[in-house]
Amino acid sequence: MRLVLLGAPGAGKGTQAKKLIEKYGIPQISTGDILRKAVADGTPLGREAKSYMDRGELVPDSVVIGLVKERLGQDDCKKGYILDGFPRNTAQAEELDKLLNELNMPLDVALSVDVPFDDLMKRLTGRRTCRNCQQMYNIYFSPPKKDGVCDKCGGELYQRDDDKEETIRNRLEVYQRSTAPLIDYYKAKGILRSVDGRGSIEEIFNRICEILDGAAKNQ
Ligand code: AMP
Repeated sequence: MRLVLLGAPGAGKGTQAKKLIEKYGIPQISTGDILRKAVADGTPLGREAKSYMDRGELVPDSVVIGLVKERLGQDDCKKGYILDGFPRNTAQAEELDKLLNELNMPLDVALSVDVPFDDLMKRLTGRRTCRNCQQMYNIYFSPPKKDGVCDKCGGELYQRDDDKEETIRNRLEVYQRSTAPLIDYYKAKGILRSVDGRGSIEEIFNRICEILDGAAKNQ
């Protein structure tokens, strides 16, 4: 299964991707996670990316495309993958198509996780992530048992720098302007599927699995 997850920041792509990894045994490729690790490690790439990320802007295409190319070439991607947060604009989508055609492994599904704009703000401002295992929580919808502490591993929960209100507004604007047009891009290719991203994590996951299992049967 070769899958692209589309959806606004806060739509739950990362949460669902983590569950899909377990079910389908394929890796998640999250450009956001790769970039955050580079920032945390203080690499030259991380230093370049940080200023864009802190403002909620997209990191230059050449940087992220290079990262994805390298990652897709690794052995664990041969049986499929979940792209999460990439592509983010039409130029990236075109580059991805070119690369996948060369590798002779075109995308099976572009899945759009749809959440009304008003709900996204609360999801993003409430989001907390475990520093240790990356498990995600939301202080409004799915809080940890103990404030600031991960249920799974006891790690410290933190708020991403780009989940502050000012940056969130910008990220949502960037999404509308640059990423939302990808819905039409993949519709035109005939591989777009959409899922209602409202409800519990399990409900959304079940909807997604129904779509993906249906798509797998038709291959
Ligand atoms: P995310 O975790 O996917 O919301 O990404 C967090 C931030 O990383 C974004 O706001 C961008 O600054 C940067 N980023 C992640 N993926 C991409 C991408 N495909 N293209 C450009 N910038 C990206």
